[in-house]
Amino acid sequence: MLMKKLSKSDYISGLQCSLALWLKYNRKDLTPEPTESMKARFEEGEEVGEYGRRYFGKGILIDAPYHELGKAIKETLGAVSNGESIIFEAAAQAPDGSYSRIDILRKDPDSGRWDMIEVKSGTEIKDYYYYYYYDIAFQYYVFSNAGYDIKDCYLMTVNSSYVRNGEIDPHGLLTINHVTDKLYSILPKVKGIASDRMSVIGSKNPPNESIGAKCNSPHECGYKAECFKPVPEYSVFDLFDKNKIDEIYEKYGAKIETLPKNAWPKGKGKVIGIESYLGNKEHINKEALRGFLDSLEYPLYFLDYETVKSAVPLFDGTSPHQQIPFQFSLHILREPGLELEHVEFLHESISDPRYELVDKLVESIGSKGSVIVYNETFEKTRNKELAEYFPSYKARLNNINERVVDLYKPFNKRDIYNPKQNGSASIKHTLPAFTCMTYEGMDISNGGEASAGYLKYLRRELSGEEERRLFEGLKKYCEQDTLAMVELLRVIEIKSR
Ligand code: SF4
Repeated sequence: MLMKKLSKSDYISGLQCSLALWLKYNRKDLTPEPTESMKARFEEGEEVGEYGRRYFGKGILIDAPYHELGKAIKETLGAVSNGESIIFEAAAQAPDGSYSRIDILRKDPDSGRWDMIEVKSGTEIKDYYYYYYYDIAFQYYVFSNAGYDIKDCYLMTVNSSYVRNGEIDPHGLLTINHVTDKLYSILPKVKGIASDRMSVIGSKNPPNESIGAKCNSPHECGYKAECFKPVPEYSVFDLFDKNKIDEIYEKYGAKIETLPKNAWPKGKGKVIGIESYLGNKEHINKEALRGFLDSLEYPLYFLDYETVKSAVPLFDGTSPHQQIPFQFSLHILREPGLELEHVEFLHESISDPRYELVDKLVESIGSKGSVIVYNETFEKTRNKELAEYFPSYKARLNNINERVVDLYKPFNKRDIYNPKQNGSASIKHTLPAFTCMTYEGMDISNGGEASAGYLKYLRRELSGEEERRLFEGLKKYCEQDTLAMVELLRVIEIKSR
């Protein structure tokens, strides 16, 4: 009989949902393809891991591939018996079949015992503390049961206040957090959880799991397309947050039609969404729309940025995970009825895009007239950051921010709502609900893909042809965003009459 095995990633994925773990092993046909954003996150983890190694300087890397567990364990034991005191990617397996590789295994010179250090690309432990602690607790369980005398456990995270200046300084980029104390309450549970996960994998039948809040938390589960098949496109899952949804779904099911009125969510916007859906009719507050239109001043500038970010800062003067604008699209309507003009910028060079972007933006946008964006926080924050970095452009960028009008607001406040929006005011939902335009079928159809593609370009991972296709896709996508705003404003004008 084959020995049961359990990797760290299976143990972790089982924490979110045991059905996801069962499907991984028993329904390989349903395995979701990793998205470009997921691949980018994985590469980011690898890159941060590399800086984690540089933080400790000299050490020996166990370079046996992940799937060659036996070889990796043998190499680790060899390094230990050779007296190595810092081992990267050390591997071990507990007698019950649980196995893992720890980013850094370091021998404490005073006690001769081992410390374990796991590197994470997030900036704060608290974001995913539950998973981070369970993650390193599993590693502790594996290594201590494999015979290693473990002294302390650490999580290494990215320091959000680090600012790049020349070569990356691993000691500035990374922070080491002592977490041994946090594991005391978790460690006694690990053996039981591991044993449970192994039975799930080996079971012929899927575990009984209900859909619910866990399907989106802490990560969006890749099996949603399968598990949510019976759920209508617009359902209670669009109405309630993670604290309430499990109770609502269990009591009333997924359909909004069967949700009693006394269980409806309280917010006015949500109620408008439900009534509009049940009556299959638009909701329009003409007075509010006219008020919005009155706040506009010509010329109108429709502005959208695309940005790229990375845990390891890409350019001097930037911090981990900082959004760096590399592209904008600007549609200009100088007077009602005049022809629409279009200005665009895409930084087609592997260097800091910000100076050229700002220069072209302030030259194109003038000093008067409304600057229309969709969800103002994003663009305004980018402008503030750019103003801080380029004092000579500060006044003009601040002036742009003072003129910003947020087109998202009338949609978000439900002053205008179409049942086809399915409860969302995002431009990806409002545009096809009110016009014949859509993002479907575009080479790049969301900001995550734009960002992941540009990051690949900056990392020199694209061929010449791939670069050409990326730039074309980016230009079409960003232009579509501002054109979408032009069209949605036109819709507001028509509906306000
Ligand atoms: S979609 Fe939800 S229920 Fe289905 S496997 Fe994922 S987490 Fe589990």
